[in-house]
Amino acid sequence: MARELKQAAQVFCVTPGRFRVRASDAMSAMSELSAESSQPLVFDCHLDLSMNAMEWNRDLTRSLEYIRRREQHQRDQPDRGNGIVCFPEMRRGNMGLCVATQIARSVNRFSRMPGWSSASQAWAQTQGQLAWYREMEAAGELRFITDKAGLESHLAEWQRPSVGRKPIGYILSLEGADSLYTPAHLERAYAYGLRAVGLTHYGPGLCGAGTDDEGPLSAYGRELLAEVERLGLILDVTHLSDESFRDALDRFSGPVWASHSNCRALADWNRQFTDDQIRELIRRDAVIGVAVDAIMMVHGWRHLRSKPADFDLSLEHLANHIDHICQLAGNIRHVGIGTDADGGFGTEQMPADLGSIADIQKLGPILARRGYSKADIAAIFHGNFLALLRRVWK
Ligand SMILES: [Zn+2]
Repeated sequence: MARELKQAAQVFCVTPGRFRVRASDAMSAMSELSAESSQPLVFDCHLDLSMNAMEWNRDLTRSLEYIRRREQHQRDQPDRGNGIVCFPEMRRGNMGLCVATQIARSVNRFSRMPGWSSASQAWAQTQGQLAWYREMEAAGELRFITDKAGLESHLAEWQRPSVGRKPIGYILSLEGADSLYTPAHLERAYAYGLRAVGLTHYGPGLCGAGTDDEGPLSAYGRELLAEVERLGLILDVTHLSDESFRDALDRFSGPVWASHSNCRALADWNRQFTDDQIRELIRRDAVIGVAVDAIMMVHGWRHLRSKPADFDLSLEHLANHIDHICQLAGNIRHVGIGTDADGGFGTEQMPADLGSIADIQKLGPILARRGYSKADIAAIFHGNFLALLRRVWK
C-alpha cells in the first residue's frame, strides 16, 4: 500500500476513489460551498495582513491596482508593486476566512536579522497590529473569530446570497513568540483573542531555534509551551527547526497545525517538513497549510535571483505538495491552504498563474484533473481546517 502511494505521488496523479472521505465529512465540506458562487469557500491559514498594513503601508481595503500603483517608485522591499493580497481580491476569490498574524521579532545587538532591540518593543509592535485589525472590524472589512459560535455564524453568513460586502473572518495567530516574553503576556494575548502560536520564526529566537537554525526549544520556550497547552491555544509548528519541532511535539499534547509549510521532498530546506515529520503530524491529526512561496516549492530556487519563469513555476507545483501530503496520509484530511501570499514576497517569487489571491481558485480544476473529487477539493480548500477548529473549540 505504502509503495503504491509513493508511486502515485511520483506521477503526481491521484487515482479517483483512492481517497475516501467519510460521508459525514464530505457532506459538511460540501455544505460550505458558497451558495452564491460555484467557487468553494477558501480558508487561508496564513496571511500577514497587519504586517502589510503597518510595515509595508498597504491599504488593504483598496484594489490591487491602487496598491501597486502607489508602490511603483518604492524600492525598500523586493515585493514592491508585486503584492497580490487585498480585501476586494480575497472576496473575489471567495476567501471568507483566514488566519491573520501578529508578527514582531526581537534580536540581540549582534544579530544580523531584522528585529526590535527589546522584547517589550516587539510586544508593542504586535499591539499596534492588533489595533489595525480592530479598526478593520469597525469598518466592516474584517470579523474577529475566537470561538465556535462565532465561527458557525460567520460561515452561515458566507453561505447566504450576499447583500453587499461581507466581512472576512479572521482568527488571530502569532508568528514567532519573541513578543510573549513572560507567560503573563500570553495570558493577556489569549484574553484579547489570540488562538494560535508559532514559537519561532527565522533564526534563533526567545523560545528556540527556527528556520535556518538548529537546536531545541529554550528553557523559556518549554515554559511558554506548557502555558500554550494550559490555555488551549493551537500550536503552529511552522518555522520550528528540526530539533525544536521534535522537542515541541514531545512536550505538547494539545492541538497542532502547520499554518504555512510545504514538503522537503520537493524543496530541500529545513523550512519544509521531511516525510517523517509529515507522518508525525498526520498521527497527531494536524492539518498542514501549503504555501505559494517559490522558495518553498521547488529544489534549487536562489533567493532574490531566481525567477518563476526559470522553473516554469505554476500552481501545478503547489498541487504536487498537496498530492505528496495526501499520498503520505493515504487520505485528503491533513492538507489545507496557508498561502503566506503577503509574507514579504509577491509575484516575483510566486507561481506565474497567481496574479491575485483570487487565483488560488485555479487550484480546484488542477486538483480535479488529478482525480480529486469536488468533496476532496472542498475539504482541502476549507473543510480540513474547519474540522480541526470545530474539534478544538467544541
Ligand atoms: Zn512564515
